[in-house]
Amino acid sequence: MPIESPYPMISIERALDIISTHIQPLPAVTISFYDAQGYVLAEDIFAVEPMPPFAASSVDGYAVVAADGPGRRRIVGDQAAGYMAEVEIEPGTSARVTTGAPIPPGADAVVMVEETEVADGFVEILASDIRSGANIRPVGQDIEQGQLVLPQGTILGPAEMGLLGTVGRSQVTVYRRPRVAVMSTGDEIVEPDQPLSPGQIRDANRFTLMGAVREAGCEPVDLGIVRDKANSLADTIERGLAEADVLLTSGGVSMGQLDLVKPYLAARGTLHFGRVNTKPGKPVTFAVVDGVPCFAMPGFPVSALVSFEVFVRPALLKMAGYTHIYRPHEKAILAQRLSHTSARTEFQRVVLTRRADGRLAASTTGFQGSGRLLSMAGANGLVILPHGQDDYEPGSVVEALIIGRILAETEPQSNPIQGV
Ligand code: AMP
Ligand code: MG
Repeated sequence: MPIESPYPMISIERALDIISTHIQPLPAVTISFYDAQGYVLAEDIFAVEPMPPFAASSVDGYAVVAADGPGRRRIVGDQAAGYMAEVEIEPGTSARVTTGAPIPPGADAVVMVEETEVADGFVEILASDIRSGANIRPVGQDIEQGQLVLPQGTILGPAEMGLLGTVGRSQVTVYRRPRVAVMSTGDEIVEPDQPLSPGQIRDANRFTLMGAVREAGCEPVDLGIVRDKANSLADTIERGLAEADVLLTSGGVSMGQLDLVKPYLAARGTLHFGRVNTKPGKPVTFAVVDGVPCFAMPGFPVSALVSFEVFVRPALLKMAGYTHIYRPHEKAILAQRLSHTSARTEFQRVVLTRRADGRLAASTTGFQGSGRLLSMAGANGLVILPHGQDDYEPGSVVEALIIGRILAETEPQSNPIQGV
């Protein structure tokens, strides 16, 4: 009798459902908006004042009475941005104004400096058609008082940071981003600065996974390498549970006698699944211990990173308050034959390019062994080869997860403005 895993094999869909029901956004926190970029808003942001807060000139020029039409005006003063000059405009007069300056009382238009000539305290208005309101940004043109500026759920990017500044919100309430404790396991794993003794390899997974955590906008906590010993494993897992919002391990989830991660998580909390019908990543494991979600990645570096992509990243984004937690996906046309066994759904690494006809082409990154991290380097897509079918022929259309930037097939890229 072959030794069977005690964990039932479940589908990828089921695994994602299980994770989703056990993951909730972290509690909201109020932080300085200086530090808020990349966070998701946990509150609606309203404008308490209009923007602009006063009628402002949109050009450097002369504030005038529009009905006066073209011709000579006496210059009665200067109104610069940032001040309230005591200058009033009556018919036949004007005031110099700068961009962003309040419109002096009495004026209802601004003539651009390019359409004027100045001599002896007078300005000659050359523009023939001066409409009331010309070159004036009315109160509230950009933002009305009381307007909802940024709804809850907004991801704070550069424009949103500027809007927070505009509406004077120096403190904002955002979803906390998960701290993710990352550890590698294995008696054979050593630090990258160590020479290799016989039987050893250097750690890849901690760096891959911490990088993936950062790329998801979360904060990694480095727990180092743990030996395949029950005591040290327990100590390090406990440290991770105490210090972080999520525990992320790699290795030690196969069928070996020293694969101790699953039994430990099962004994300490609830192990929700320990085997998924996916390749790579079959032994991927999800447990909740003391309310902390724990993801155990397989040891092979590609398995670890692909499992992170498929199972962990959406969970981290959900915890951070994102509503769109899954990678975008799109149909892609295979450039080569991809070998595949029908037993499991497989995620193969590809380079996606946008063809001239607008469709995506998927080109393999080469040998797809679970240990060959080079198959993931430079990959911007994972093509999903569903179970139930063997090899995929060139030209087959499959679904691809988009995990990086897609370039056009015609490289080098042309300047987007040329020929437009
Ligand atoms: P395991 O899941 O512990 O059985 O490991 C499966 C394979 O992945 C073995 O060949 C390990 O040597 C390798 N492996 C495990 N952890 C790492 C790691 N952190 N970095 C690179 N390779 C690893
Ligand atoms: Mg191991």
